[in-house]
Amino acid sequence: MRVIGLVLALAGGMTAAPDLILHHGRIVTADAKFSVVEAMAVEKGRIVATGTSASMLARKGPSTKLVDLAGKMVLPGLIDAHVHALGAGLSEFDSKLPPLNSIVEIQAFIREKAKTTPKGEWIVVPRTLPPRLAEQRFPTKQDLDVTTEHPVAFDGSYVWGANTMALQKSGITAATPNPPGGEVVKGADGQPNGILRNAAGLLKGVPQGASYTEAQKLAALETMLKLYAAAGLTSVGDRAAVLEDYGLYAKLKAQGKLPVRAVITWRINAMRSAEEVVAEIEKNPWKTGQGDEWLKFGSFKVTLDGGQSVGTAYQRMPYGAYGRQLYGQTNPDARGTLFVDGPKLTTIMRAARNKGWQLTSHAQGGAAIDVLLDTFAELDKERPIRQSRSHVMHGSFMSEESVGRMKKMGILADVQAGWLHFDVPALEQVFGYRNMRYFFPLQTYLKNGIVIAGGSDHMIGHDKNRAVNPFNPFFNMWMAITRLTREGKEIYPEEKISREQALRMYTNGPAYLHFAEREQGSIEAGKWADFVVIDRDYLTCPEAEIRRIEPLMTVVGGRTVYER
Ligand SMILES: [Zn+2]
Repeated sequence: MRVIGLVLALAGGMTAAPDLILHHGRIVTADAKFSVVEAMAVEKGRIVATGTSASMLARKGPSTKLVDLAGKMVLPGLIDAHVHALGAGLSEFDSKLPPLNSIVEIQAFIREKAKTTPKGEWIVVPRTLPPRLAEQRFPTKQDLDVTTEHPVAFDGSYVWGANTMALQKSGITAATPNPPGGEVVKGADGQPNGILRNAAGLLKGVPQGASYTEAQKLAALETMLKLYAAAGLTSVGDRAAVLEDYGLYAKLKAQGKLPVRAVITWRINAMRSAEEVVAEIEKNPWKTGQGDEWLKFGSFKVTLDGGQSVGTAYQRMPYGAYGRQLYGQTNPDARGTLFVDGPKLTTIMRAARNKGWQLTSHAQGGAAIDVLLDTFAELDKERPIRQSRSHVMHGSFMSEESVGRMKKMGILADVQAGWLHFDVPALEQVFGYRNMRYFFPLQTYLKNGIVIAGGSDHMIGHDKNRAVNPFNPFFNMWMAITRLTREGKEIYPEEKISREQALRMYTNGPAYLHFAEREQGSIEAGKWADFVVIDRDYLTCPEAEIRRIEPLMTVVGGRTVYER
């Protein structure tokens, strides 16, 4: 039935008038020539023509809807190649999260919670990344002792903080043995200072996160996807899904409630034997490209190392003395954590490649990038890896050599320009400015012909500018253009990219990564009618205003999914 309907629609399309014509605007097509046109016509979810206002209006029929852009700018639908929509949707499902940008704000949050929390019950500070705290250090028990009547736990992901009462309640003393791979960090007095590295399991009775019904999860996911549409996004890459998450997307799609297109990355749990992981890959029916234009599978992912925000990204160089202050590290030679060794990674990736997957790994530290590229090189020897459009996810600490290897093998990069803004001030203290030379080297990538796909790595919060990480695409494009840290310092200006390149990073680049460059990423006849009308001129507005650009209307497949 569907096929017949489509054929009839196409046949009808030859003579019927467009459903929608947008005219008298500045439409940045992001085509090969980076043309700017006045008008476009849309029919049955696709762009059928672009050109002058007069030529498009001449196609008008009795039921064509006309939109007079009155000089406003239109961009191709923006694509965020890296989000975590479900977790982010749930993070503020029950209540708004407070701003936690400093230890002072964390203390205010604890005081506020203490007023309504019964004495003796836990207060948990929501996940916060230490390099983004104004004080640039990990909070200790003294910082968290603003209440003496409640145990307090600070969630810094791999590293947690505890106040004095939390340590007492959990029976953690100077005599407590370190758990395997973890550490009860001691202060100068030899007593636990409240920092628990990979040792949060020692805290007794901390309430686990709320559990949600499927209906609540669906509502949270839909809310989040609508907020993406309101931010000007028309497609997102969800980067760490399991079977259940995919099911939620599929349900929303079946109910006609997907406001944006979604490409799902399957993250496998690799923290077990290679045989078990391979068996799961082989029995699973999924592979890259399965699905349709609204929902499909993207890449296969293994998390290779930890995070730069918590001192666990696997680096070529040690974290050194500053790691103690920032991450609560006690070993100045620590280089972070590699979760999966090279031979095991190769075994897993080979199985996924043979199954038909595009490959990727979360790899932030330079040494983790090296391990991933070694695996890609092994597989490349067996069969060229280029066609699989495999990529490095994040790749924060690149080097000239690793960029050269990516170029040679045709590896892409999933990049988070926004991290320059938030994380460089602290990371520069840890590693020194010289070692930040290839921190998201966007211009070097482009000069080497490496496709870059922009993404936010949005995981917590609903506000596009205050979320961790901000999913406002114009903020991330602005960062790629300016490379300004939150302290106003320019980081390696030779790595800045132009406005055109930054727009391509959020359109053409991720479209290519998603094997969808024939359908999206530019405004051209035949492609999906995915676009965003914005409130000012992206190409000519003052540079400082780029991050403040606001969408007026977002259209996906010819359907308006957001209107201001
Ligand atoms: Zn991520």
